[in-house]
Amino acid sequence: MSTNMNLIYQRILLKISGEVLQGINKFGIDINSFIRIAKEVKCLVDMGLQVGLVIGSGNLFRGEKLSKIGMNRITSDHIGILSTVINSLTMQDIMRSISLKSCVMSAIPIHGICQIYNWEKAINLLRKNIVVIFSAGTGNPLFTTDSAACLRSIETKVDILLKGTKVDGVYSSDPQKNKHAIFYKKLQYEDVLKRELRVMDLTAFTLARDHNLPMRVFNINKPGSLYRILIGKDEGTLITI
Ligand code: UDP
Repeated sequence: MSTNMNLIYQRILLKISGEVLQGINKFGIDINSFIRIAKEVKCLVDMGLQVGLVIGSGNLFRGEKLSKIGMNRITSDHIGILSTVINSLTMQDIMRSISLKSCVMSAIPIHGICQIYNWEKAINLLRKNIVVIFSAGTGNPLFTTDSAACLRSIETKVDILLKGTKVDGVYSSDPQKNKHAIFYKKLQYEDVLKRELRVMDLTAFTLARDHNLPMRVFNINKPGSLYRILIGKDEGTLITI
């Protein structure tokens, strides 16, 4: 295992929302967004960082959206879950093309395509600096990939969960709708709950709080933002107990 004294964390879980991966398109896979993120991750892995990855699927299908057009909610979520596997396989392929070792683990068995999730195997891979891409969310409908990100963070004992989004961090209200929205650099879990700030769904958020998991919400579309976090620079919003 290699370590690097310049990095403030040894093991992280990076959650990327699907929307980031559609680039400027309204739907689908923007290969350049995948390549850009994969390269940023590679730079850090080369410095010794252990990286777990959870990828959402807002760029493809979300259960809630499909159910609004009349589909059964459980089937809709199954489609959402499978879409996270599509994104994960895409990311693995891109990582392979830039010589970054990764392994896709799925919460549901998909024989012949990827490994089934196992926390001990995941930790062993992370220790070898192999990026572990946790796909298929929690494997259950009615959850989100934020829940999966919190769960896998706790199981694999990461130092911090980094939630990469399209916005700079947590605001008092939607900055696109309210130009007076206040940006928070630091928050405590209780502040987020009391002020009903939108960070992630409550199931995921309270799980993270109960297990004392620090998290940082940041804009992954800002080039170099991930690196800056890892060298201790102020980026996004830090949420702690
Ligand atoms: N999903 C699910 N269970 C999980 C994780 C995800 O049912 O444990 C489904 C759900 O339909 C969700 C979709 O997969 O809408 C995509 O996940 P998410 O909405 O978290 O993606 P993101 O917003 O991060 O792109």
